Amino acid sequence: MTTTSALTFQPVLERIAEEIARTPGRGRPADYIPALASRDPRSFGMAVAELDGTVYGVGDWRQPFSAQSITKVFTLALDLAREGDDLWEHVGREPSGNPFNSLVQLEYENGIPRNPFINAGALVVTDRLHTRTGDAAGTLLDFLRAESGNPALTFDEEVAASEAGHGDRNAALAHFMTSYRNIENPVPELLDQYFRQCSIEVSCADLALATSFLARHGVRADGTRLLTRSQAKQVNAVMLTCGTYDAAGEFAYRVGLPGKSGVGGGIIAVVPGRCTLCVWSPGLDERGNSVAGVAALDRFTTLTGLSVF
Ligand code: GLN
Repeated sequence: MTTTSALTFQPVLERIAEEIARTPGRGRPADYIPALASRDPRSFGMAVAELDGTVYGVGDWRQPFSAQSITKVFTLALDLAREGDDLWEHVGREPSGNPFNSLVQLEYENGIPRNPFINAGALVVTDRLHTRTGDAAGTLLDFLRAESGNPALTFDEEVAASEAGHGDRNAALAHFMTSYRNIENPVPELLDQYFRQCSIEVSCADLALATSFLARHGVRADGTRLLTRSQAKQVNAVMLTCGTYDAAGEFAYRVGLPGKSGVGGGIIAVVPGRCTLCVWSPGLDERGNSVAGVAALDRFTTLTGLSVF
């Protein structure tokens, strides 16, 4: 079955939600950030946004959750828009094949992280955006509010504080890269920015809309351009190859779309030129990706035939 009409998205979403509700085994919420551990793994929401801003949703699609690493897509786009290709001298764009919080590659590769979506790479991007804007997290929040049309979006200070209290790994990454002069700002300031960035509370509807600029080849909701067409293609490509960490191959195999996950249980995905998706369910697999989220996206591309392949 191939979907060409927007009207058909709602029944597809409802069918997927019914299937997910019948599927046992939801994984476990992230517990290394204590404030996230109490989330209910049975929660499930999914939204699809058309390029014109029409949104379809099912389940808990209006329920706010912790965006976490999904924000790395937006900081990448915001920094790339400002500094262009110079960014790629400080962070690579190859899949890491390692967990998102891994330290091992950095010593062999002179403090240059493999890609912008593992934590080390995201810290570099946030650091550079912070240098350019004076407030990376605030710049990100303003962008998400504008693109989602939801001025109520905000940081969850409890989640940010909870992560800061258990942030030794991210602190180690930032200090280590500072020793290679690949971090420009003081580490405590950078970590504060990064944890607040990750803590932003968003719903599936918000994120599907905020991601739309990547389906519109770089053009924002107000019609202005954030990225060149080529840069939008690059961000989508890095999402496809690196957006779900050491499960990126499996995600491309099952879903066939550029996607980005976060340990809050959300995943965004892009059908370039067509629509964007966001799915949320807090139970994670051992690689930090939402179990029901990947399953739902797998069903979406199978049922609709919409994929980049
Ligand atoms: N804030 C989380 C961390 O740095 C983000 C990780 C994620 O969502 N994969 O560990």
